[in-house]
Amino acid sequence: MIKRRDFIKWAGAAGIGLNATGWSMLAQADSVASPVAIPVPTNTGIKGRVVVIGGGMGGATVAKFLRIWGGTGVDVTLIERDSTYASNIMSNLVLNGSRTMSSLQYGYGNLASRYGVKIVKGDVVSIDKATRNVTLASGASYACDRLVIAPGIDFDFPPGLETAAAQAKVPHAWKAGPQTTALRNMITAMPAGGVFVMSIPGKPYRCPPGPYERACIVADWLKVNRPGSKVIVLDANPGITAEVHAFTEGFALHGIDYRPNTTVLGVDTTTMTLQTNAGNIQGNVLNVIPTHRAGKVITANGLANTADGRWTTVNVLSYESTTAPGIHVIGDASATTQPKAGHIANQEAKVCADAILRLFSGRALDPSPHTNSACYSPITATTASWLTANFRYDAATQTMVPVAASSGEAAARSTKNFEEMGKWFTALMGDSFA
Ligand SMILES: Cc1cc2nc3c(=O)[nH]c(=O)nc-3n(C[C@H](O)[C@H](O)[C@H](O)COP(=O)(O)OP(=O)(O)OC[C@H]3O[C@@H](n4cnc5c(N)ncnc54)[C@H](O)[C@@H]3O)c2cc1C
Repeated sequence: MIKRRDFIKWAGAAGIGLNATGWSMLAQADSVASPVAIPVPTNTGIKGRVVVIGGGMGGATVAKFLRIWGGTGVDVTLIERDSTYASNIMSNLVLNGSRTMSSLQYGYGNLASRYGVKIVKGDVVSIDKATRNVTLASGASYACDRLVIAPGIDFDFPPGLETAAAQAKVPHAWKAGPQTTALRNMITAMPAGGVFVMSIPGKPYRCPPGPYERACIVADWLKVNRPGSKVIVLDANPGITAEVHAFTEGFALHGIDYRPNTTVLGVDTTTMTLQTNAGNIQGNVLNVIPTHRAGKVITANGLANTADGRWTTVNVLSYESTTAPGIHVIGDASATTQPKAGHIANQEAKVCADAILRLFSGRALDPSPHTNSACYSPITATTASWLTANFRYDAATQTMVPVAASSGEAAARSTKNFEEMGKWFTALMGDSFA
């Protein structure tokens, strides 16, 4: 098990450097450091037009670092459908009232004013794979030399949950926003002795520890505020998929009824019943997290090429699609060996920005990128655990492989970890949006 001080070092190490030509060679994007504005250079000699679809953890970061490392000759347009980004990270803490959704909003003003990123509010509906032209629902279209797509995820809803009305009764709250607040309200409306049932989809899904963290936070709140209540976790996976030690302890602490190998087959929102491969289960509050797939803009435009048709395969030296030249896919929507996580999306964005700038200037790709992922998981209202994974490029398999010596989870949950979670989150969000 790695030591806490080493984890802090890896999670927070400064990582932005400049080479002789003025733009960063540090595709080893091991930094979530300074939210201080970094000047955009004017003299790199690099020229090119990039359109980025999606202003979340991956898209905001790639847009910002293309300008910081590429300079004013790199024209960057970021297209995002929402006016502000609602962070999923920390959104489980809205459920016990220790955070509000309004504290998790990030605007695009800094990207525009500090770094000269052109921000377009709109919904991309079609992509011409040959020309890389993108068209919005409004009819406007944008051309570019290289396109980066970071749309996050969409869901395959089980029978009974297809409509907006059904989803309002049984929210996933797995894209932070109104559903998160709705789920919080449902939990506070539960009677003492009530039953909260949540389901976890089969892998891969975004934020491997996230559902287990949610179960702990909700159970902890119910124990104090709605005595005698029960939390049941239905996991489509054969066992806890991340931070096994922390969550095994957390589930025992909170008396959570954990049921592995249990898949939701249907939902009856009238009787509030989940139909599963292990029988029917009723609850006062149901929280079904459906099976994931890449954001619709990927699947609707023929860019999902994994065998299951859900994700885009990429060259992890550049995040360029293996089937659509000039189109890069980062964050949750790509299929890599790294977890679908915001910290990893930030890291992939930096490797991708570095690669695009090298391609614009006729240079070889960095042959050995490193990425890292840090994640804190609250187990109670005041204690947290953590997990970190470091990855290096393996030329033999052409994948990112974990570096065992610097990957692992905390030995125990603690209040200190909980405090440091806030600092890590502020630094990560600052690195992407400030
Ligand atoms: C409850 C929860 C807790 C989490 N906790 C952590 C954590 O502690 N640590 C961690 O590292 N990760 C965590 N994650 C995971 C993390 O939030 C995601 O992995 C991360 O947000 C992925 O980044 P992304 O850029 O791929 O997608 P997103 O951040 O989801 O961004 C996608 C953006 O694209 C926009 N978009 C999509 N389609 C279009 C379109 N057609 N046109 C225009 N815009 C479009 C969306 O509006 C959105 O703003 C958590 C997730 C959840 C649900």
